[in-house]
Amino acid sequence: MNGAVPIPERIRGLADLVDNLWWSWNVPARHLFKAVSYPLWKSTRHNPVRMLQLVDPQRLARLSQDADFLSLYDKVMASFAADLSNGHLWFAAQYPELRRPVAYFSAEFGLHGSLPIYSGGLGVLSGDHCKEASDLGLPLVGVGFIYPQGYFRQRIPPDGWQEAIYDMLNFGQVSIHPVLDQHGNRLIVTVTLRGLPLHVQVWQVRAGRIQLYLMDSNVQQNAPWDRDLSARLYGGDQETRIRQEMVLGLGGVRVLRAMGIDPAVWHLNEGHSAFQVLERLRELVRGGTPLEEAIDHVRHTTAFTTHTPVPAGHDAFPYHLMDEYFGRFWEEMGVSRERFMALGEHHGRFNMTVLALRLSGRRNGVSQLHGQVSRQMWQPVWPDRPADQVPIGAITNGVHMPSWVSTSLKDIFDQYVAEDWAERHDEGAMWDKLYEIPDKVLWEAHRTLKGKLLAFADQRIRQSWRAGGLQPSQVLATGALLDPEALTIGFARRFATYKRATLLFRDVSRLKRILHAERRPVQIVFAGKAHPADAGGKEFIQQVYQFAQDPEFGGRVAFLEDYDLHMAHFLVQGVDVWLNNPRRPMEASGTSGMKAAMNGVPNLSVLDGWWAEAYHPAEGGRPANGWSIGESHYADWDAQDEVDSQTLYRLLEEQVVPLFYDRDPFGVPHGWVQVMKEAMRTSLAAFSMRRMVKEYIEQMYLPAMR
Ligand SMILES: *Cc1c(COP(=O)(O)O)cnc(C)c1O
Repeated sequence: MNGAVPIPERIRGLADLVDNLWWSWNVPARHLFKAVSYPLWKSTRHNPVRMLQLVDPQRLARLSQDADFLSLYDKVMASFAADLSNGHLWFAAQYPELRRPVAYFSAEFGLHGSLPIYSGGLGVLSGDHCKEASDLGLPLVGVGFIYPQGYFRQRIPPDGWQEAIYDMLNFGQVSIHPVLDQHGNRLIVTVTLRGLPLHVQVWQVRAGRIQLYLMDSNVQQNAPWDRDLSARLYGGDQETRIRQEMVLGLGGVRVLRAMGIDPAVWHLNEGHSAFQVLERLRELVRGGTPLEEAIDHVRHTTAFTTHTPVPAGHDAFPYHLMDEYFGRFWEEMGVSRERFMALGEHHGRFNMTVLALRLSGRRNGVSQLHGQVSRQMWQPVWPDRPADQVPIGAITNGVHMPSWVSTSLKDIFDQYVAEDWAERHDEGAMWDKLYEIPDKVLWEAHRTLKGKLLAFADQRIRQSWRAGGLQPSQVLATGALLDPEALTIGFARRFATYKRATLLFRDVSRLKRILHAERRPVQIVFAGKAHPADAGGKEFIQQVYQFAQDPEFGGRVAFLEDYDLHMAHFLVQGVDVWLNNPRRPMEASGTSGMKAAMNGVPNLSVLDGWWAEAYHPAEGGRPANGWSIGESHYADWDAQDEVDSQTLYRLLEEQVVPLFYDRDPFGVPHGWVQVMKEAMRTSLAAFSMRRMVKEYIEQMYLPAMR
């Protein structure tokens, strides 16, 4: 936070406020920043640190004497202070004696668009988990990487083949600070890789009451190739990965030790950080604990969440790489090489998920269906048990509701649901009150949000067009012709091939008929990045992008470049329907659909992941809360695609489009608004991060904390 303009004494607290991501999910705090300068708020992509560097000092001086601004300022600062002192919060009230934290290890954290250290759902889940831990007063520290070049920025040239651009993070323009040791020097922690020391420095990010400690290998003592080790998220080959994962696992434990933090529970969010258990075993054995006892202790204090049934999502290293990198680490653990390798053995490799499964006492998948799939998938780890008795449970994901629901809907909740809906948002019954919102009010709010999405797309296009190098066909492909009145389908997520972004194009002429139907037009907005090494995913982007440029689609297919957290907010709040058509059961949970549903955007989705639990048809006087593309299973992928695409077309033609265009004389689609309300009612509590974190506390954390 260098270079900020001087802040007048009366509003000096702004400097503290921008320094903690708490503001990002707090409505009055966001209003306060908008009041500082709305144009800067927009142009900095909601980055108040940057905003305070760019704002005219005279404007700050004026604001420091503006009664309205000051009254909002005082209110925000008071609630900031109250939230940071945790006395009144849920966890502290329930379990005042439990003060040692949960150490939450994750390779990604999706906290805010200004910190590009996430690639998709896993990271957003980690970020949301931290924010909710803060809201509930759960003591938790996050451990991960800062990745100075982050995940990439996406650019699409006319041929549609995604390009990856890496920008260097400007540490002065985000709320982040170096962690110092007791002498005031930068804290440096060392990990031995291949017999050689690698040094990492540590950065601290604050999300409410939660601290995150993020490692960075870009320090002077390291050789150039080591300095780059943590430069990018998921960059590089298998060797880079084992090195990164050693730093995350082993280094992460050492960071906490160096800071004197003594966790009661260690949560591995996905297998990337599983080497952590080896470091903890080594510590115990070196401290004199017999190995079997050490293993019991580590198991008792470790929780593990697995996130995907896609085989490539589970890192497994060849033994020669393990030998090279771990050297004689096992001797310090008091085990033979054979015993050491056996901890992660799976199909002749050292598998990170298997290591985590064996060394954690509580394990879970991220939806009920994914729990079941995981029990089957990992049954070989428990050879003497049938799949249904494999000890992997399920806690269905959630999203941090205060971060994802639009401010306009929150204002409506204030008026029609309850004044304290925020504190009680995981009480399902409270949301019955949604039915008291007049249809017209909800519909108007939705139309405004849709307008914001289209304005966002327009502004992006204008910027790119002005910057030059954009062809006119790309202007159309990126959404210039989007129509605020047309039924708008959103499809935005990582372009992993199992998500089948191109399914909708299986019968191009049928799709064209749907899009161009007279008086009932439909348009589709796509966004998403493919992993740089995923050629299949990039081909999907290319296909969609070419359709988007094809005049026969008439500008009704758009691909918005560079999907990220910032854009995700506009999309999940502003489209009319959220489409998800993964190849079942590959979508372990899916969370973007939850964000959409909470904003009154119904899902049109395969019954996979969370939607298999959430979806219900119209019944007993209740409207449906969305649409199901089914749960059929064909071993032949082509047959599966054929069946699912037929179902999808039929649903659009017979149900979705007719319901959307069934209007009263004032243009309000009452039947549709009922589905919107039901989507909200059945998601706001049930798929909230609050419900989820409480389940983690009860099932995964408390047994170890006590
Ligand atoms: C929520 C979110 C995701 C996860 O989307 P899925 O539908 O679960 O694949 C990915 N990226 C961003 C930016 C998100 O906000």
